[in-house]
Amino acid sequence: MTLSKGRLAGKVSVITGAGSGIGRSMALLFAAEGARVVCADRSGQQDEVAAEIGDAAVAVHCDVSSAAEVRAMIETAERTFGRLDVLCNNAGFGGPRKPIVEQDESTFDDVVAVNLKGVFLGMKYGIGAMLRTGGGSVVNTASAAGLVGWKHHSVYSAAKGGVVQMTKSAALDYAKEGVRVNAICPGNTYTGLAGATREDPEPPPGTRMPVQPMDRWGLPSELAAAALFLASDESSFVTGTALPVDGGYVAR
Ligand code: NAD
Repeated sequence: MTLSKGRLAGKVSVITGAGSGIGRSMALLFAAEGARVVCADRSGQQDEVAAEIGDAAVAVHCDVSSAAEVRAMIETAERTFGRLDVLCNNAGFGGPRKPIVEQDESTFDDVVAVNLKGVFLGMKYGIGAMLRTGGGSVVNTASAAGLVGWKHHSVYSAAKGGVVQMTKSAALDYAKEGVRVNAICPGNTYTGLAGATREDPEPPPGTRMPVQPMDRWGLPSELAAAALFLASDESSFVTGTALPVDGGYVAR
């Protein structure tokens, strides 16, 4: 896919989960489109991504389930680049696949702390920063599993469903104040979770994904492209939407 350049020229962005997969792809694409990027992750891999981008990026260690660390991440964007225009609350993980009776209470706490509370904290501190400079765009990474049920992933589905509803409600909170809030809902996407590596980022030729009507994995670049639209001024009249980017998964 060829996209015009400069769609985020002059904008300052923060991306969580930027060390890998969809978040890494967002960071590289946003930088290519003119944004300055705070690459945040708890893995350490955010350092490599920021180095790959160069002067337009800084790396921040941040566990999105920690209010203090999320606040510090947003302050880094303001201190380093002067403002915050775009926030992608993308960090997340699925947790073990088991029926609900076999899910541990500690799993519930961890999955909700990262996938749902992490998005809450990002919006709490990130939207505060956007309001100080006249507005911005938030793009939350929910999931197709936040729109339809996903067998053996009840806790993750609940957390992502929560992200969808928090996105819609926060969009209403700030609709008149220049802050737009939207979500992308990935279907099965070929990232580290699925076996992708830096050396081998795409699924082997012929790999099928019959559960998705397009019968293939999504690619991180396809999710990043959808996030770019929602982050940029091209979506200036779009707020409160949860956009499936899923090869038709939730349309079945
Ligand atoms: P990934 O594992 O490649 O990347 C996720 C990144 O988030 C990792 O770098 C990880 O270190 C980071 N992270 C996890 N917990 C964190 C925390 N507490 N604080 C900071 N960083 C943390 O996976 P991905 O597929 O790129 O996932 C990105 C987002 O997309 C997640 O929210 C995930 O739930 C969502 N998603 C993915 C798929 C898929 O099929 N890959 C489908 C639907 C939704």
